[in-house]
Amino acid sequence: MKTEIKSFNLGVTSCYLICGKDVVLVDSGMPDKLHLFQKELARLEVDPMRIRMIVLTHSHFDHCGSASDIRKLTGAKIAIHESERDCVEHDSVLIPKGVNMLGKITKPLIFSFKISFPKFTPDILLNNSPYPLTDYGIDGYIMHTPGHTIGSLSIILNSGEAIVGCMAHNGLPFRLKPGLPIYAQDINAIKENWKILIDKGVTTVFPGHGKPFPVEIMKRKLNYPDTK
Ligand SMILES: [Zn+2]
Ligand SMILES: [Zn+2]
Repeated sequence: MKTEIKSFNLGVTSCYLICGKDVVLVDSGMPDKLHLFQKELARLEVDPMRIRMIVLTHSHFDHCGSASDIRKLTGAKIAIHESERDCVEHDSVLIPKGVNMLGKITKPLIFSFKISFPKFTPDILLNNSPYPLTDYGIDGYIMHTPGHTIGSLSIILNSGEAIVGCMAHNGLPFRLKPGLPIYAQDINAIKENWKILIDKGVTTVFPGHGKPFPVEIMKRKLNYPDTK
């Protein structure tokens, strides 16, 4: 199966189309981005009717903001981890801690105002078991990778790419270079999941904000031997 990842931005969020037999969208960007989404699909030459699933890496507004609108356009099913269901159906928000100084300073600004987005009922609730994407003609699976939030998800392709949501940040407005996210409920859990990705043979990491980067950067940040 030939699988290709197409990247685009919806607001400050990096979103991805995994194109195999069908197309799986990872994250839906900020609220009110449907028009921009349609423009990006046209630019990337992807027919919206091919999108069969929208995987939300977690329930924050900058990843779920346009999910409801995109579902109406495409008819795709929305998948999220079961532990974050309440946050997309109602007004509850998982508030992470600031990891570094910038995170500590900006966290109240970003999370306390509860930026609202159209709420929705997910179609597929994922648990802690891997969820294969073979039914979509994609050689990979969705995996529970908690840390940024309790129900954070990543998508691992067997060709070596991993789309990890906010398990990593690489770009404005959060970071200038690739690294850990600046907000996390449990930063140590994120580091454990970085190790799991490395052990699985991931080669390229696609973050929730910013551009893809090689897994060697994760190894260096975790002080793996021979990565200085
Ligand atoms: Zn987040
Ligand atoms: Zn985010």
